[in-house]
Amino acid sequence: MVGNWKMHGRIKENAALLTEVAAWASALQNDVHVGVCVPCPYLAQSQALLSESVVRWGIQDVSAHTHGAYTGEVAAEMAADFGVTYVIVGHSERRAYHRESPELVAEKARRALDARLTPIVCVGETLEQRELGSPERVIAEQLDAVLDAMTAEQVASIVIAYEPVWAIGTGKSATAEQAQDVHAFVRSKLAKTGAAADVVPVLYGGSVKPENAQELFAQQDIDGGLIGGASLKSKDFLAICQAAQTVLQ
Ligand code: PEP
Repeated sequence: MVGNWKMHGRIKENAALLTEVAAWASALQNDVHVGVCVPCPYLAQSQALLSESVVRWGIQDVSAHTHGAYTGEVAAEMAADFGVTYVIVGHSERRAYHRESPELVAEKARRALDARLTPIVCVGETLEQRELGSPERVIAEQLDAVLDAMTAEQVASIVIAYEPVWAIGTGKSATAEQAQDVHAFVRSKLAKTGAAADVVPVLYGGSVKPENAQELFAQQDIDGGLIGGASLKSKDFLAICQAAQTVLQ
């Protein structure tokens, strides 16, 4: 269960949120792992407040380069210096606002792996693409670029997040059935890489709330969630993680 803070948070409010999440996460059972992907300026704060806890922290994007004249970019190894575990790549907001191509997203995922970090590769279709036909075509294009650029061993070290663009921040989640259909498709693509498809966690993201979490996580191929807005409220994030814990029982 990974929170994506996006461009939210300030040092004072973060301290309260991180401390609360660290406290309740230790009581979770059934192998529920919790992470938060914070804005880069708060990495040192996250490291200081979470390193004694079970909660892992991460970043929301990374450079496709290792170093050099790339003003404003952050290299995976820089994030690794702050104890980071997760790197979100290919979030739909970056694909849309920064015109990130599937190939660029693949490069970023590989840079994360090179730095021994875990890329969370986001894929998902817009509403228009869904209405034009099957979302699978779009997802295959986004996924193939990443899977083709990796060995089976590397594929086994990534996390995938299916996030339908129309469900992100809209309050309108995909139904459990819609999500499961796409997750099963993602799993079949993973199986074709030669990697053990079952070891790659496939998360669902898009308006997950305490009210819909349990039904989503009960689906066979949904292994967890990438949680935006609700991860900024400790109580909601906890309720979502507890829903995952219940379903795993
Ligand atoms: C996200 O941005 O990754 C996301 C899933 O957002 P939300 O939960 O707010 O829809």
